Amino acid sequence: PERPGSLWAMIAEAVAQNGDGEALICGHVRLSWRQAADKAARIAAGFRKLGLKRGDRVAVLLGNRIEFPLILFAAAHQGLVTVLLSTRQQKPEIAYVLTDCGAKVLIHEAALAERLPDGRDIPDVVNRVAMDDDPQLSRFAVLADNAPAPAPVDVAEEDTAMILYTSGTTGKPKGAMLAHCNIIHSSTVFVSCLQLTSADRSIAAVPLGHVTGVVANITTMICCAGTLIIMPEFKAADYLRLAARERVTYTVMVPAMYNLCLLQPDFDSHDLSSWRIGGFGGAPMPVATIEKLKAKIPGLKLMNCYGSTETTSPSTIMPGELTASHIDSVGLPCPGARIVAMGVDGRELPRGEIGELWIQSASVIKGYWNNPKATAESFTSGFWHSGDLGSVDADGFVRVFDRQKDMINRGGLKIYSAEVESVLAGHPAVVESAILAKPCPVLGERVHAVVVTRLPVAGEELRAWCAERLSDYKVPETLAVTAEPLPRNANGKVLKRQLREQLTGT
Ligand code: ATP
Repeated sequence: PERPGSLWAMIAEAVAQNGDGEALICGHVRLSWRQAADKAARIAAGFRKLGLKRGDRVAVLLGNRIEFPLILFAAAHQGLVTVLLSTRQQKPEIAYVLTDCGAKVLIHEAALAERLPDGRDIPDVVNRVAMDDDPQLSRFAVLADNAPAPAPVDVAEEDTAMILYTSGTTGKPKGAMLAHCNIIHSSTVFVSCLQLTSADRSIAAVPLGHVTGVVANITTMICCAGTLIIMPEFKAADYLRLAARERVTYTVMVPAMYNLCLLQPDFDSHDLSSWRIGGFGGAPMPVATIEKLKAKIPGLKLMNCYGSTETTSPSTIMPGELTASHIDSVGLPCPGARIVAMGVDGRELPRGEIGELWIQSASVIKGYWNNPKATAESFTSGFWHSGDLGSVDADGFVRVFDRQKDMINRGGLKIYSAEVESVLAGHPAVVESAILAKPCPVLGERVHAVVVTRLPVAGEELRAWCAERLSDYKVPETLAVTAEPLPRNANGKVLKRQLREQLTGT
């Protein structure tokens, strides 16, 4: 069949293909594809009532709940751009994104009201819609108001459907613009590489506001007209119960979540025999985790998916049957993707040599919202410069070894050192700081800070300072406070490698 030209067209196809089949499940609420599309069209009427027009930004600050995908569907219906915020963000982070994207409406968890910036800090946001835990979904009335569904708005394939902010080396978050065509391409790649059908049942256990939640879970399930089961919050014990009860077949999670599942003492008491595909990505997976999962669930194909926000999720996928024989690789480039290792001189390296991985594909976004400088730095001739160091071997298998970007990967959640360092620099007692990754067997890495102070200050005070200004996972978990200046090279660059060696004793 012809590829849909917009997200709404893809939803309409799911309705045509599997209208009565289960689309969305969360808690006690279960919606078929037809019901989900009807509700979305009603929310679209609410958006119209608010005066929103094609291209306007709707900011979404919601946890994993059934309204989340419905709002995305409704925005797609009206050609609106959803801007996905994380429920872990604090007031200054939320204010930055709302201002940068010029959101007209903010739909937020009622419980997070105290985290919202003052109206004068975000003058463009003319409407706020609070959602609480009303099981009857009556809060939709705020948006839908029983208005008849309007006609869907035409969009171009290249139009931006969503903006997801990623931090970066400069410390200021950048809005990755995911176009309809990027999302449709990535979803189609997941469906074809993993051979998903309308019989597949997926658990969205990762946060829906991140690229894995949106693409590997929500839009991939639209693409195959399958069933998406939404977990409000990941807890390994609940996950195992839900996966068994709902006969789940497909998941994409970060390695830390698989690790936490394996730590459950009653793991073996759950019937997980329906689970056939376990995609993982966002961070490297320990070999021991793969081996343990294989031994416990023989029918489960574990597939490494290497991706990022800028590539609308997957750039490589490891065919499940090759995982065991290529344990050190993240897989083969997805259909239509080209991945090369680039040398420091900007030339493509021969196969097998290690350089910065550059990725070209129909999933690669066209750039960052309102930020031509960052776009020009990270995207050239259709390639996204990943900041990851890796290689591509003669058979095309991609390996990721390390990274160039100064980033910490805490169980798949990314922390850019510059962002935390700049918050610490604002504290009156701090001269400078260096944020480092501290190895952790479950989460991979945790945030450690070496802080140089001019006045005596307790580590706890510095943590509290960060906690008011940064998402919880970005707050340093351990700190070394010192009066000694940080070690630097001749160019004045902080020698993080040396600090890391001191930290780990290697
Ligand atoms: P999400 O935001 O949903 O967690 P994500 O981790 O795919 O998605 P980003 O947060 O943009 O996306 O992070 C991308 C970076 O994560 C990559 O550049 C790479 O450093 C790391 N990464 C992603 N997948 C893998 C993988 N399979 N193996 C090793 N590192 C990975």
